[in-house]
Amino acid sequence: MPSRFSDSFLNELTEKNDIVDVVSQYVNLSKRSGSNLFGLCPFHSERTPSFSVNRSKQIYHCFGCGKGGSVINFIMEIENVPFPDAVEVLAKRAGMQMPAAEDDPESRKRAKILAINRAAARYYYDMLGSAEGAKCREYLEKRRLSKKTATDFGLGFAPDRWDGLRNAMREKGFTDFDLFDAGLVKKSSKGSFYDVFRNRLMFPVIDVRGEVIAFSGRLLDGEGAKYMNSPETAAYSKSRNLFALNLAKKSKSDFFILSEGNIDVASLHQAGFDSAVASLGTALTEQQAQLLSRYKNEVVIAYDGDEAGIKAANKAIGIFEKLDVKVRVLRLGGNYNDPDEFLKACGPEAFRKLIEDSENRMEFKIRQIAEKYDLSRPEQKTEFAGDAEKLIAALPSKAERQIYSSVIAERIGVKPDAVMSDVENLRKRLVRRAETKETQEMISRTVSRRQYANPASARAEEGLIRLLCLDPGLIRSVQLPSADVFTDERLKKIFSLVSEKLADGEAFSVASLGPYLDSGEMSLLVGLLDEPEVLSNSERAFRDYVAAIRKASNVKSIDDIIKAKKAQEKGRK
Ligand code: ATP
Ligand code: MN
Repeated sequence: MPSRFSDSFLNELTEKNDIVDVVSQYVNLSKRSGSNLFGLCPFHSERTPSFSVNRSKQIYHCFGCGKGGSVINFIMEIENVPFPDAVEVLAKRAGMQMPAAEDDPESRKRAKILAINRAAARYYYDMLGSAEGAKCREYLEKRRLSKKTATDFGLGFAPDRWDGLRNAMREKGFTDFDLFDAGLVKKSSKGSFYDVFRNRLMFPVIDVRGEVIAFSGRLLDGEGAKYMNSPETAAYSKSRNLFALNLAKKSKSDFFILSEGNIDVASLHQAGFDSAVASLGTALTEQQAQLLSRYKNEVVIAYDGDEAGIKAANKAIGIFEKLDVKVRVLRLGGNYNDPDEFLKACGPEAFRKLIEDSENRMEFKIRQIAEKYDLSRPEQKTEFAGDAEKLIAALPSKAERQIYSSVIAERIGVKPDAVMSDVENLRKRLVRRAETKETQEMISRTVSRRQYANPASARAEEGLIRLLCLDPGLIRSVQLPSADVFTDERLKKIFSLVSEKLADGEAFSVASLGPYLDSGEMSLLVGLLDEPEVLSNSERAFRDYVAAIRKASNVKSIDDIIKAKKAQEKGRK
């Protein structure tokens, strides 16, 4: 897999962007331990620093959440951008010229898909206005979505035919294979291509740069899944995008409204709530939350009122908490399933009132605990208080603990002071325990974080990679084993890449592997690099690791022989 960026370009880029300087722009690196600088991890919430940066290895690595990589990975994570964009940020910072984009097959593919999507959106839009589109226009009317809303969202209609889009696009010069890459046609068992979206109201998914990256289509009538969404393509990652963020990011509102359905979002915008977005048929992801937090630091969750909606809200609260985004949860009340239904029945003013009355995350959580108990009975009151106090005791701010202690007190009809003193006692115990637990956890995570099927071999495999990375000169004095001896697939991949780079005589850096490793593989690599290694006799260490791998795989094969024998005997009986 060729990369648009040459190794020499990436090496120059990382040399000119010292990781300590770059990370320091985001993280306060105040503690030093050995050659590592430590700070609070920007990727998970913590109170004691476990996020480390190593200047000599030019890597970062969090002992808490396990994330890690080169300076490029750091920019990708913290700015939520793909590899080439992170490179661009750093190139700008260092005043370097970027290599031309068309050199990169991946971005060429992406550009092509975007061009196809734009043309397809145009086609669907035109179809909505055509004679054939009458049934879709009626559907919009039935759902009470106006012409203006349809235009604002660029809504369209996919006709009830197998080749509507395909024919129109072929006339424009796009091939079946182009359309296939964009996820707009599928291949039948007979080998012919047919439209994916048929008889559907089409919602283009537009990213913050204004590109049509995907489609979401709602079935108008008849058989089939209610919604169909574009698959992941070179231009679309569903976990990193939100429906209508292109519009909502321009809203003057201080908060986003996060709902579940496309129709809800369209209805909300039409009713004047122009900061509404939805995650397309998936539970909210960390990347989506991060993306939202770039524009506003408050979100009102307006999920469906059913059990699934409440569960999803709880999960979203957890994600936003980590990012320090203020969350409120809106309650539709008994008879309404989703914001669209509510708006239609009660109007925008009533919805505005719901937003005002929406609960903050603690109120929401306390109420959920309360609903598990019958608070008219004394013993259940005590149990409720016990549960809720545990939640409150974990809050770092004393003012907050006081406020919510009175919320609990009010629910069970006692004086706030009584609850408050319980909470403070609980807190003291919690803090004492957390201090030991947090340090224990940090230690145990670093040791047992990586899980392998054959741990004995994998530790040695890690060692080989570590030695090669830290002492690349080894390549001249030792014989590299074949990658086939590796038992762990991800380590095998990393080893192959490293040995390829070294065999080509290229200067090696963690950053130069960036284009080939996903974030999990990259974290694995820096995790193993961040472990101690004695380099004084690296040739000897290298041979020991190779021997350990051989031994560990032999042990395994003897096991296999015994197993096979047993199976044989069983067969004979
Ligand atoms: P409606 O009001 O017509 O029911 P909706 O937009 O409110 O439509 P929901 O059923 O609430 O739809 O679903 C929420 C979202 O989940 C949809 O907007 C869509 O993005 C996604 N979704 C729903 N059903 C599917 C499905 N079968 N496959 C993929 N995604 C789906
Ligand atoms: Mn709905």
